[in-house]
Amino acid sequence: MSGLILARYGEIGLKGKNRGFFEQKLVERMGDALADCGVEKIEREYGRIYVRVSGDVEKACRRLSRVFGLVAVSPASSADLDLDAIKAAAAAALAEARAEGHTTFKVDTRRPNKSFPLTSPQVNRFLGAHLLKTFPDLKVDVHNPDVKLEVELRERAYIYWRSLPGPGGLPLGVSGRAVLLLSGGIDSPVAGWMAMKRGIEIIPVYFHSFPFTSDRAKEKVIDLCRVLARYAGRIKLYVIHFTDIQKVLHQGGPDELQTILLRRMMMRIARRIAEREGAAALVTGESVGQVASQTLPSLAATGAVVDLPILRPLIALDKEEIIARAKSIGTFDISIRPYEDCCTVFVPRHPETHPDLGRVVRVEEGLVDQALIEAALERAEITEIESTEEGSWEA
Ligand code: ATP
Ligand code: MG
Repeated sequence: MSGLILARYGEIGLKGKNRGFFEQKLVERMGDALADCGVEKIEREYGRIYVRVSGDVEKACRRLSRVFGLVAVSPASSADLDLDAIKAAAAAALAEARAEGHTTFKVDTRRPNKSFPLTSPQVNRFLGAHLLKTFPDLKVDVHNPDVKLEVELRERAYIYWRSLPGPGGLPLGVSGRAVLLLSGGIDSPVAGWMAMKRGIEIIPVYFHSFPFTSDRAKEKVIDLCRVLARYAGRIKLYVIHFTDIQKVLHQGGPDELQTILLRRMMMRIARRIAEREGAAALVTGESVGQVASQTLPSLAATGAVVDLPILRPLIALDKEEIIARAKSIGTFDISIRPYEDCCTVFVPRHPETHPDLGRVVRVEEGLVDQALIEAALERAEITEIESTEEGSWEA
């Protein structure tokens, strides 16, 4: 089945002089997402993007439903600006809906092209009457129809009745890059997704403490990247072997500061990766007050080691809200697999909630060994991760 897709976008329409650049990026991203869908054309015009594919239209729509910047995607048909042609196309679309068991409909017309001789309400009435005659078993319901048959009158007429929501936001890449500190937990994949939604390309880094954390924990992070890659095309993951560093901190640092010391080391290493990758920020899954290492003083102590902005997209979200988002983007089921995270390995019994930065810095004097950091960077495993294919039309 081949055909036409109508994609609608939101905020980038407001970007003034940058609008052309944003739209062009969006079109590029759509092209990437449809790489194996037989794209014949992608054309933008007055706030809409029209795509024609020779391959499976539903699969193409699903792919587009994960392209940041798009707010909705619909398989569509088009017709000449001629009432008979529009009638035929509308009847064909409604026949599809009827075949899926829908019984009520309404016609909803928009007429950006004011040279069309009938007004939108006139077209609604005209088509409604024609469709009722064609399908006597169907009924009009203007308030709560099964099917909203949308008709857009532009230089041609476009007709559609199904839509998948897109993620909204800005096209990936328009906001530069950031390094995401990605654990196997619930929060950080969501934080990464939210950063991506604002146009930031992410490069995740995972700190792995084998054998304290098993390779299953690493596998989990790779699986999370596969899900994020559905939205990004592919993801470049850094795995940093963290055991040696963690041991040094554990042996030499006070118990109650372990998590802070660990986080600061992660930040230093992530900072170096950012340099290498041309990234302008770091992203974490922290949220104020969630745990001892996420009080304001702890966040300050963690952030003090880097001179890049640290983005914390979840900073004001409740756990429930984060979980809902994790479910909707598809990371939740992977995140709850029960493998240890390195932060839980030497977890202090009474973690400091108000760390004194001066003290932290003094403690680190004998502990932060530049050679260990270099060695960890040297040993980094870098993997390009492709997306896993996603579910059904409704998914
Ligand atoms: P998450 O669900 O993302 O693990 P969390 O609520 O468990 O978050 P913490 O374990 O305190 O929070 O971690 C806070 C943040 O530090 C994480 O969101 C993540 O950005 C980063 N982080 C923690 N552990 C790791 C790790 N092993 N590798 C990379 N980043 C990590
Ligand atoms: Mg965690």
